[in-house]
Order: sequence, then structure tokens, then C-alpha cells
Amino acid sequence: MLLELRHVDVCYGDAPALWDAALAIDAGQIVSVIGPNGAGKSTLINVIAGVLRPSRGEILVDGVDVGALAGHRVCEHGIAIVPEGRRLFTHMSVHDNLELGAYRAGARAATRETMEEVFSLLPVLRERRSQIAGSMSGGQQQMVAIGRALMARPRLLLMDEPSLGLSPRIVADMFGIIRRINERGVAVMLVEQNIHQALGIAHHAYVIEHGRIVTSGRPEALLGNPQIKEAYLGV
Ligand code: ATP
Repeated sequence: MLLELRHVDVCYGDAPALWDAALAIDAGQIVSVIGPNGAGKSTLINVIAGVLRPSRGEILVDGVDVGALAGHRVCEHGIAIVPEGRRLFTHMSVHDNLELGAYRAGARAATRETMEEVFSLLPVLRERRSQIAGSMSGGQQQMVAIGRALMARPRLLLMDEPSLGLSPRIVADMFGIIRRINERGVAVMLVEQNIHQALGIAHHAYVIEHGRIVTSGRPEALLGNPQIKEAYLGV
């Protein structure tokens, strides 16, 4: 198993946000996490990425517990995050944002080669490599955020609502890109409010409500579940 969470709790001060989370992602899989606003999806992604610390439980990458490590050390284990809201260096060029993604030791030596791979996947970034990131459209900035994460040569890409605020056409492009990233052998954990598309692309999915993972399964099974249909798909 590439990633496994066992009994993970996360608190903000005294306020619990995630309880007893258990989750597993195999190499090469796309796993979607769906749930309403405030359910704990970002908390889940951030605790895996080392942005937050678990107050209990284990976060195993290839069987090694990374729960106590800071984000840059988690990255050394092959996990990269595309954070909610992108968090680009908006005053810097596309090229410089990408280069900063290759900071981990194993990736730095391959910066030029990896950037070529990123440009082949996201050609708009090659065209606009000298442009200041903050002057680009929302969709293009999201591509920069994805490209920057890929520069770390991850085995698992964590994506927190990559389609948020984008037009339907750009959202469709985004899901196509996620599929292509996965075809290149990178596992993806996708937190999304675009339920249909998130389930359409996934090998496995989890539903999170009020800080708890309430159900999981194959996307077809979740789409056929009357409670899921009623709660999330309005049917
Ligand atoms: P959204 O889709 O709105 O981003 P989410 O499912 O990602 O929601 P989280 O952002 O993980 O949910 O939030 C889970 C809970 O933790 C919510 O009740 C939220 O108010 C709370 N929370 C999130 N961040 C903090 C913080 N920095 N300090 C205190 N509470 C927080």
C-alpha cells in the first residue's frame, strides 16, 4: 500500500475536525474524497501532506509513519500537494514557480527533465513560462499549481478542490489532466465538490461528513447508493 491512514484524529486547538480516519491508496490509483462544506476534507489532505499534525493515529507511506514529519520531509517520501487556493508565488514567473517545486533532493537534479515533462503535459505553461503567475487566469494558475507539485516527482499527488471557481469548460480540461497525470503512473487523491466528475474519474472513493469517513467503495456503488444520491446528487 502506498498510503495508509489508521485511526487518525486531527484537532484545531481543542476542536476536533477529524476522527478515527482510516483510508488506503494503492500505487497508481485515483481516490476521490467527497463531502459537504466543513466536513474535514481539507483537514484530511493537510494532515497527510504534513501541513497539520495528527493528534492520534498513523500515516503510513510504504509502511513508514510520516505523521510527525513536516511538509518538506513528507515530500521526500513522494507526496506532493496542490493546495486549496493554489498558493502560488504570484509575483514570480511561471518558470520560477515550477522550479521551486523541485526543491526536494531527489527532484532537484532532474529539474530540467521534469520541467520538459510538465510542459508536455501542460503546454500552456511552456508558452507562458516567462509570464508573472499572478497575471494569469484562474485556470492557468491552477495549471501552474499542478505543474509545481509535479516538479517534486511525486508518486502521490494530493489535490484540494482543483476545480473550485473554474468555468465548466476549464473544469473538464482539469479532469482530463488529472487522468493523464494518473496514466503516467502517479496516484492521485482528489478532494472535490464536483461529485459526478470526482466519482467518474476515481478507482475508489470515500465520503466524509462531520469529520468522519462514513462510507467508502467503488464509485459505481456509491453512485447507486440511495443515501448518497439524495445527499449529494439531489435525486
Ligand atoms: P470546505 O469544502 O469548506 O473547504 P472541508 O470539508 O475541506 O470544507 P475543513 O476545511 O477540513 O473542511 O474543515 C473541517 C472543520 O474544521 C470545519 O468545522 C472547520 O470550521 C474547522 N477548521 C478548519 N480549519 C480550521 C482552523 N484553522 N482552525 C479552526 N478550525 C478549523
